[in-house]
Amino acid sequence: MPETGIRQTNGRGRKFDNILETIGDTPVIRINRLAPDHVTLYVKAEAFNPGGSVKDRLAVNIIEAAERAGTLTPGMTVVEGTSGNTGIGLAMVCAQKGYPLVITMHDGFSVERRRLMRMLGAKVVLTPKAEGAVGMMRKADALAEANGWFLAHQFETAANADIHETTTAREILADFEGERLDCLVTGYGTGGTVTGVARVLRKERPETKIVLAEPSNAQLLGSGDSQGRKEDGAPAHKHPAFEAHPIQGWTPDFIPYVLQEAIEQGFFDVLEPISGAEGIDWARKLANQEGIFCGISAGATFAAAIRQAEAAEPGSVILCMLPDTGERYLSTPLFDGIAEEMTDEEQAISASAGN
Ligand code: PMP
Repeated sequence: MPETGIRQTNGRGRKFDNILETIGDTPVIRINRLAPDHVTLYVKAEAFNPGGSVKDRLAVNIIEAAERAGTLTPGMTVVEGTSGNTGIGLAMVCAQKGYPLVITMHDGFSVERRRLMRMLGAKVVLTPKAEGAVGMMRKADALAEANGWFLAHQFETAANADIHETTTAREILADFEGERLDCLVTGYGTGGTVTGVARVLRKERPETKIVLAEPSNAQLLGSGDSQGRKEDGAPAHKHPAFEAHPIQGWTPDFIPYVLQEAIEQGFFDVLEPISGAEGIDWARKLANQEGIFCGISAGATFAAAIRQAEAAEPGSVILCMLPDTGERYLSTPLFDGIAEEMTDEEQAISASAGN
């Protein structure tokens, strides 16, 4: 007999037909050391998705919505411009369903993202960093047009916010049923998360304040300047308030069409500007003080949540989205100063047992 008090698990109570069935139902986890004492702070850890990020949700729905509509048929190639997580999610979905996938991505993003997508069977076409997100989207467009491929359109498609409405938001409602939820904090890349979640929270939990974070040096929403668009909703040009920032997955160089609904419907109550340095700092603290290993955008969202927490009334309950895993950032500033060789302290530990 094992000792009493030992942990025990009992399985998930079901078997899964394929990897895609494991997407979603990510855990809400309490923060124990980093939260101010007068509030309860939770994170929703999207790294638990099989592809390691929130974008698995969107990826599976873009493909399945197109299958339902008949615009994607067996054997057709899928193409998308993406900074990484959508590409990894799409690569997983396309591998499982048997669609060839081509990803366009500018060469400023971390190399491990490209290699992950290639590992999952996708082809990765690089575009110059100087041409930004608009440049890589343009390449995806051109490839779709030239070859008759299915373009995923993550920044414009209704399939994006819809899946957050039917999964992410429902999970939050279920996990906070009968309990306080004073504040939800998220960032935006496409705007799918905030738009989909807010559609539901505004109706079902109207008391929940929604805080939207964006990079402090690229305050596209904060600037108040609108976005020029082409007929299909895609951006006609770079947004004037954009500047390069290290928070991969957040704020592209235009205001996404998917986010437009959130702006027009007043789906957020507070805009919180966060610097890349704060994002990196909090991602490191989450890793080494809570054991929660996540990316820079997660750290940045958490920074905004901490700001809310500090100003919140005693007893407040706050939920912070953590979009992805930190393993995707080994070659980025998140790991600057994390040693490869033994540090002086480690040398001293080694020496403490003699030679
Ligand atoms: N963080 C990361 C790392 C992401 O990949 C994304 C998705 N682009 C986001 C945040 C933002 O999510 P959404 O696109 O739903 O706004």
